[in-house]
Amino acid sequence: KKWVYSFGDGKAEGAAKLRDLLGGKGANLAEMSNIGLPVPPGFTITTEVCTAFYENDRAFPAGLKEQVEKALADIGNSVGAHFGDAANPLLVSVRSGARASMPGMMDTVLNLGLNDETAAGLGKRAGDERFAYDSYRRFISMYSDVVLGVEHHNFEEILEYFKEEQEYSLDTELSADDWKNVIARYKERVQEELGKPFPQDVNEQIWGAIGAVFGSWRNRRAETYRRLHNIPESWGTAVNIQAMVFGNMGDTSATGVAFTRNPSTGEKAYYGEFLVNAQGEDVVAGIRTPQSLTKKARLEGNDKKPSMEEAMPDAFAELAATFERLEKHYTDMQDVEFTVQEGKLWMLQTRSGKRTAKAALKIAVEMVGEGLIDEKTAIGRVDPASLDQLLHPTLDPDAPRDVLATGLPASPGAASGTVVFNSDEAAAMRQAGKDVVLVRVETSPEDINGMHSAVAILTTRGGMTSHAAVVARGMGRPCVSGAGSIRIDYKTETFTASGVTVKKGDIITVDGSTGQVLKGQIPTLQPELSGDFATLMTWADKYRRMQVRTNAETPHDAETARKFGAEGIGLCRTEHMFFDEDRIVAVRQMILADDAKGRRAPLEKILPMQRDDFRQLFEIMQGLPVTIRLLDPPLHEFLPKGDEEIAQVSEDTGIPADKLTRRLAELAETNPMLGHRGCRLGISYPEIYEMQARAIFEGALLAAKETGAPVIPEIMIPLVGMKTELDFLKARVVAVAAEVEKEQGKKLEYSVGTMIELPRAALMAREIAASAEFFSFGTNDLTQTTFGISRDDAAQFMNDYLGKKILTQDPFVSLDIDGVGELVRLAAERGRAARPDIKLGICGEHGGDPASIAFCEEVGLSYVSCSPYRVPIARLAAAQSAL
Ligand code: PEP
Ligand code: MG
Repeated sequence: KKWVYSFGDGKAEGAAKLRDLLGGKGANLAEMSNIGLPVPPGFTITTEVCTAFYENDRAFPAGLKEQVEKALADIGNSVGAHFGDAANPLLVSVRSGARASMPGMMDTVLNLGLNDETAAGLGKRAGDERFAYDSYRRFISMYSDVVLGVEHHNFEEILEYFKEEQEYSLDTELSADDWKNVIARYKERVQEELGKPFPQDVNEQIWGAIGAVFGSWRNRRAETYRRLHNIPESWGTAVNIQAMVFGNMGDTSATGVAFTRNPSTGEKAYYGEFLVNAQGEDVVAGIRTPQSLTKKARLEGNDKKPSMEEAMPDAFAELAATFERLEKHYTDMQDVEFTVQEGKLWMLQTRSGKRTAKAALKIAVEMVGEGLIDEKTAIGRVDPASLDQLLHPTLDPDAPRDVLATGLPASPGAASGTVVFNSDEAAAMRQAGKDVVLVRVETSPEDINGMHSAVAILTTRGGMTSHAAVVARGMGRPCVSGAGSIRIDYKTETFTASGVTVKKGDIITVDGSTGQVLKGQIPTLQPELSGDFATLMTWADKYRRMQVRTNAETPHDAETARKFGAEGIGLCRTEHMFFDEDRIVAVRQMILADDAKGRRAPLEKILPMQRDDFRQLFEIMQGLPVTIRLLDPPLHEFLPKGDEEIAQVSEDTGIPADKLTRRLAELAETNPMLGHRGCRLGISYPEIYEMQARAIFEGALLAAKETGAPVIPEIMIPLVGMKTELDFLKARVVAVAAEVEKEQGKKLEYSVGTMIELPRAALMAREIAASAEFFSFGTNDLTQTTFGISRDDAAQFMNDYLGKKILTQDPFVSLDIDGVGELVRLAAERGRAARPDIKLGICGEHGGDPASIAFCEEVGLSYVSCSPYRVPIARLAAAQSAL
């Protein structure tokens, strides 16, 4: 079996496409060799060896030894030096390289092949004893740390002590003899620590290093990184062994790292740093301050030391030419490592560079302009989720941070404000012109007003689909939810976190993009929606098939969503309209009434307000489709809790407190989410839905008159599980429409459909579709009811599930395609079987999640609907999934 792939001298056995087998670094070293770039010769031991290594109790597979020996001999022939040769030794680097880049997670050994004899030989041969012993001491400390487990600080201490003794301040002041002295002390320390000497046998050295690199695939750092980035353990790492080139051969030598464009702004300018007379680890270790690559960057950075462009113009020119070659070849921004040995440039690595969202956008758009890539490729180059970084204010990355606690990044963006603990107070302070942060254990629909008044929301309980999270995302308010380490004391109006007590009136900053809660005010940077962003969005719109709508109920949110490119409203949650100050009293009177007759008067009061709400939404949407969902949540959510609130509501509504208390007891439920909610309310109290239907139709006629555009409302019945439920309610809606038509002498166009939020609804989709003109998948509830996991309580154990890998993703954030997705797929099929032209959409939180959007494309939904700030993300994700 072939375990080893060689590269160098303008050719290679591997290529970029063999990434799975050779790892990213190995595949790209092969590719660079193939296109004739200067790569020191070497070879890659495949990821299959890593797999075999772990399967065989950390033993190497048969045949590997011979292949490595042969490949090492080939390198030696190529560079004219030989591994272990006392007079003319070949030195190699041994480095890891997995399929996905895992920067700094695994181990590296440089200068391998040195011992007492070869070091002396290298010094003679190079005519530079100091260089040879500098390399040897580097090797001893690195190898001892990585392979032998004698930690780095041992060697640092010795070197520091020696420098003090000699009154040196810089490493460069040490002479060859000084290094020999240090090396002797290093070897003593290894002997002390291990009870045996530092290995002088170069073969022992190389197999030790290979084993250590494979072993590092399962070190703690690497495991954590893999977990965070969803990299499977089964991939394994490759090992790259390569002839050393030396950046530490004096002042004509150097080492550096660079990006072909600026990875933080995307600007087309070389970006990076280098160090003269140094090796790679010096740049990383930060012992010396690296110098700028270009003169321009040096001047901008006010840097005194010459840039590479000035200090090594020839090598820099070659590097710049290489950058151009690499970008043309890979058609992407590259992140490279290089070394200059006595004026000659060598490339040690290239990979596509990590970048910020802003840079990704700029680079993608500019590369289309440069003819490097086409529009479709550009669309694929930007991670839709990362657009979040651009749509909201972000914390100035250079500002100092004092983190009080970290919760869930529930709604992106960052804002600072004065702490308040209740919603009424938030509203009052907003009125007074103050920026407030609403801090609650959790929020309920009652807090809508307060949330709207706040610049940011912080809760200590609840997950990514908790009320606070969903509503905050909808409003575009930054929100951190479930910050469990914070203790709120409503009585004293304080909270404590990390030993700090924060009082009402103190200023904090909430960063909903990272989940951080910070002390004091931190400066933010404002988003920019024109330029590259607008260009990429135009391309996305050109290539996507699915429509993108928004979940919105306030004019403000609807307008924001239009600005972000929403093509209609996919979900208007009418209950949120019930909390506005002008109607909550009537809403409560309606709920507290004993019978239909008692409900009529308050409903009459609510009707004109709802009509006006809908008229406004229709007008903002200018003839685009608007789906309005009739009342959904259990009624007690609108009612007061606690004696104080009851007294207040009793006063507002004129209903005696004892009657109120009795009615509250009647309405209390054990499992409200599975209780008297959704269409069940409409069945018990048809007059509520009738009022809403009338408000919708009358609002539609008004808006049509105003805008001149036809308004075709889509009326949606929530939480249907049975066709008979839908039929009962649809008949009421149709009857109201007929009444309004008769009263106004106008014809109404509208459709009636349902949400699919219950497994039974999905299973019975064929029957339900006979009555429903459209389906909207309410995947929040569908996830809740399919898993039998409460949306509101999931946060308490979701982390355990994720940590213990019971679940790989929170199903309330990214659709569970296997289970919940299967119900969606089946309902879509069955719905279409009964009604081929049925309109299908999704309005659960998943409608703004790129992976879930790709699934919606696959199932052939007509649209996705998401909160206003996610509309651009959905547009881009929909385009990516269509391509
Ligand atoms: C849903 O259940 O997915 C949905 C959109 O409705 P809500 O979140 O209001 O329950
Ligand atoms: Mg729902």
